[in-house]
Amino acid sequence: MSLYLYNDLTRKKEEFKPIKPGEVSFYSCGPTVYDYFHVGNARPFIVFDVLRRWLKHLGYKVTFVQNFTDIDDKMIHRAHQENITVAELAEKFITEYNKDAKALGINPPDFAPRATEHINEIINTIEKIIKNGHAYISNGDVYFDVKSWPKYGSLCKQNLEDLEAGARVEPGENKKDPLDFALWKNEKPGEPSWQSPWGKGRPGWHIECSAMSSKYLGENIDIHSGGVDLIFPHHENEAAQSEAASGNNLPFVRFWLHNGFLLIDNEKMSKSLGNFMTARAAIEKYNPTAIRFFMLSAHYRSPLNFTPEALEQAEAGLTRLRNCKSNLDFAKNTRKGNNNEFKSEKFNEELKELNKKFHDALNDDFNTAAGMGIFFDLVHLINSEMNNYGILPDEFFTSAERELKFYDEIFGLLGDDENNNDLSSEVENLISERSTARKNKDFKRSDEIRDKLKSMGIILEDTPQGTKWKREL
Ligand code: AMP
Ligand code: ZN
Repeated sequence: MSLYLYNDLTRKKEEFKPIKPGEVSFYSCGPTVYDYFHVGNARPFIVFDVLRRWLKHLGYKVTFVQNFTDIDDKMIHRAHQENITVAELAEKFITEYNKDAKALGINPPDFAPRATEHINEIINTIEKIIKNGHAYISNGDVYFDVKSWPKYGSLCKQNLEDLEAGARVEPGENKKDPLDFALWKNEKPGEPSWQSPWGKGRPGWHIECSAMSSKYLGENIDIHSGGVDLIFPHHENEAAQSEAASGNNLPFVRFWLHNGFLLIDNEKMSKSLGNFMTARAAIEKYNPTAIRFFMLSAHYRSPLNFTPEALEQAEAGLTRLRNCKSNLDFAKNTRKGNNNEFKSEKFNEELKELNKKFHDALNDDFNTAAGMGIFFDLVHLINSEMNNYGILPDEFFTSAERELKFYDEIFGLLGDDENNNDLSSEVENLISERSTARKNKDFKRSDEIRDKLKSMGIILEDTPQGTKWKREL
């Protein structure tokens, strides 16, 4: 089965075929770096990074771009509040973004362009739109002329009358029609500004994504993603700008993908509603990989409720996955040998079947929820073989490890959390000190070590083959 994705442009699941065979150009809207990002924002960052991994697994050469919006009203407002420059604010929160993204296991994009470093590209894009007759200059501002663009509304599926009802002209705007939107804004006192053919000013909200996407990926791209709130106006405007600039009559984007909202008490988690938890706070409260697990356990387009119970369940699920891996490692060291009773052909058949189901799930509009279920079926199968046989042959370990590794290259759940490598060696040292103490009948020391490990969240189990340990999450 080939990959099918739900395309918000056609409102249909469609077979994914890239513009250039074998290559995928993929742009995902990134954070506005005026603050720490919240768990709702983390959803697109996590799921679209995993989609990128899946596309790579399918053999595509993927170029993935996720921008930083480092100039807009929110940035300017916050920098004033903090009494720092907009550039300093951006620098600080890009660094913080990178720390949280790393803790959540998100791979860095191939390009992470910043709006303020692409002012020339932005100006060039605006000039093309003006030249092609779809934008006008008004008092040092430049506006996109929405009524000159017949396709406007085709992504959000609304007609101009409906859109007009919600449109307004804000004080200080010089547009001809309430539907028009700013590509360039005339300089205002106290705001950062750049020289342009229309005087000093700064880019409007949407134009950076059109300019940077075409710089890194070309004028027509395969996938563009973001949260569902970006469909209108951000993505509708991006599409209009990019197509008006290129003038090549081809769609700016082949597949528009949008993740559903992360909800808290059935409302969208958002900064403006004040019902948010920063990713930083969530990472301190829960295991960061459990947050990842939680995001991947739902289909990316479904709404998802952020509750303490759901996160606790995710932690328990993650423990189950990781225990399978650590039990497998332990069994490999202690129970490997020839066993004629082990039915290796049947085991391999079952692995193959699960692997196929996993492919079908992810190829069916990237259904990570179903994929996660199959990951658990795999763990169940490996666990039951370990329970059924005292001694297991080499090939059992090779196949089981290969499959776990494959699923996990996509989901990224089994690997060590940050700092965990240090943890492993510290734990190993304490365990070996404890066995020496036990051999010497120094039970006081041995109990002390057990308690110390417990306080570190490590649980020990003494077995005839030696001491096993696992993480308590
Ligand atoms: P922003 O920094 O506000 O531009 O948002 C970054 C990304 O987070 C965008 O793709 C938004 O659509 C997405 N986003 C914002 N709030 C939520 C939410 N509650 N659930 C899921 N995605 C969200
Ligand atoms: Zn964007």
